[in-house]
Amino acid sequence: MAGLYMHIPYCRRKCIYCDFYSGGDRRARWQELADASLAELQSRKSEVCGDFETLYLGGGTPSLCPDSELRRLTAGLRSICGERWNVSEATIELNPDDVTDERVEKWQEAGFNRFSLGVQSLCDEELAAIRRRHDAATAVNAMELLMQTGCDVSVDLMYALPGQSRRSWQHSLDRVAAMQPQHISAYALMYEDGTALSALEKQGKIRRASDGEYIAMYCTLIDTLSAAGYEHYEISNFALPGHRSRHNSSYWQGMPYIGLGPAAHSYDGDRARRANNPDIEGYLASKGICVPHQTEHLDDAMLLDEFLLTRLRMCEGFAVDDFRSRFGKNNTQRLIAEVRKEMPHGGIEMTAEGTVRLTRQGVMTSDSIILDLASVLS
Ligand code: SF4
Repeated sequence: MAGLYMHIPYCRRKCIYCDFYSGGDRRARWQELADASLAELQSRKSEVCGDFETLYLGGGTPSLCPDSELRRLTAGLRSICGERWNVSEATIELNPDDVTDERVEKWQEAGFNRFSLGVQSLCDEELAAIRRRHDAATAVNAMELLMQTGCDVSVDLMYALPGQSRRSWQHSLDRVAAMQPQHISAYALMYEDGTALSALEKQGKIRRASDGEYIAMYCTLIDTLSAAGYEHYEISNFALPGHRSRHNSSYWQGMPYIGLGPAAHSYDGDRARRANNPDIEGYLASKGICVPHQTEHLDDAMLLDEFLLTRLRMCEGFAVDDFRSRFGKNNTQRLIAEVRKEMPHGGIEMTAEGTVRLTRQGVMTSDSIILDLASVLS
């Protein structure tokens, strides 16, 4: 199995927290972008083995792409993959204010059967504070329209936003959970260097939530969605039974994927990671042939770190036997037991079947636990 990702590098305007690579859509060259992406796939499809089973159009804002161009793009991807096209999950990311009856139909005609909607919050003040284009009513309308299609809908939410209280976070969660979209992703607001958000914080115009507030909101998230029937299958992801994201799960399971477009990442499923340069003009100038990029070759230590980082994000964790056979460490079980003893609140557990996974407490401090484990096991 392999995944196919395409990055749409345009947004109508920049949200203040965003450090994803994107440029303004007024200068978008949609036709050239589609042509270059198709040429890139043609020249790189043999980098991974197996059928392409998932497609993910992310960004940026894919819902800005004109419908005719989108249709040409997906038809082209399908034709280039030929017999290897076995896509059962095709996701497109959408901004709520782009969602209309007519466009939903066009996205389905283009082959998409899963919609990822950037709701973020259902409080107008919070949406305005992070400079999102939509308001809460628009987001709810978009969810309703998308859910009528019978396709899977994934809703993105954010917490620890400027001015957000536990009560307003609970309000957003309750409203979204009551609508029962098949999938919910929820991320804490991060203060990335170089963003307008970080600048505002430095100027004292925005107060960053305290560690205690982050943890309290994360607990509210887990409790609310668990009570509403969602499975907490990855640190930031929740799904109704049978509706996990196959595309994103394949990242966490170390499966290969090809990323097309400026700033897109790829992984060959073995030791090579590739990142296309974050440069729209350079990408278009390449016409998809010899796209400017960086490649990183993973050594044994990096592979081990990645294994822990990705597998422990999932609620299943990893099997000690699998770890042992990949990395040849015969004393894995003993080392993990030693790490566990050092953790005062029991951040990881080992099941009777030999699976290692984070506990609920461990999920809150996953980064430091994974670092501890990596240093002992490497
Ligand atoms: S719409 Fe998404 S990609 Fe575009 S600026 Fe906002 S957060 Fe970033």
